[in-house]
Amino acid sequence: MHLLLFGPPGAGKGTQAKILSETLGIPHISTGEMLRQEMADGTPLGLKAKMYVDRGNLMPDDVMIGIVEHVLDSAPCANGMILDGFPRTVDQAAALKDMFTKRGLVINAVLVIEIPHELIVERLTNRAIIENRADDEPRSILNRLVVYDKNTAPVKHFYEGEGLLKHIAGIGTVEEVARRIMTAITQ
Ligand code: AMP
Repeated sequence: MHLLLFGPPGAGKGTQAKILSETLGIPHISTGEMLRQEMADGTPLGLKAKMYVDRGNLMPDDVMIGIVEHVLDSAPCANGMILDGFPRTVDQAAALKDMFTKRGLVINAVLVIEIPHELIVERLTNRAIIENRADDEPRSILNRLVVYDKNTAPVKHFYEGEGLLKHIAGIGTVEEVARRIMTAITQ
């Protein structure tokens, strides 16, 4: 099964992707986590990523598309995956569609976790204290919301057109949201 998890920063994508990954027994692929690991390791990709990620800007499409294509062909993803944080632009969505078509794969569902902006800021500010992420600093948070509305929200329309979109209310407890997701994908 191939699932995409989509939503604004702080919507709980990472948390829900981990739960889904354990429940369904397929890997959780977070492009944000991959970049943070490269940054922590100080690799050339990590050094490049730092310039974008810390300020809350998006990495160039060609770099991200290359990373995801590589992951898609890796052995652990042979039976599917939960893709968290990709695609973040309409061009990435179009490239993903091509990658899947070429390999005879299908995207089973695109789960959009919806939460109000006020809650996003509150959650990210709390996460900044716990995880110490440079991009959870107030100026970066605001920029990430602007980038989300401008570049990433239009991806919803792309998948709406494909009939794959499932809206999930992101408010409530982690367990409540997880239950809504399971209901949506088993319907
Ligand atoms: P996340 O952990 O998903 O919130 O991602 C953290 C940061 O990594 C984002 O704010 C971007 O700077 C970068 N990033 C992750 N995924 C992508 C992507 N698909 N396209 C561009 N930049 C990305």
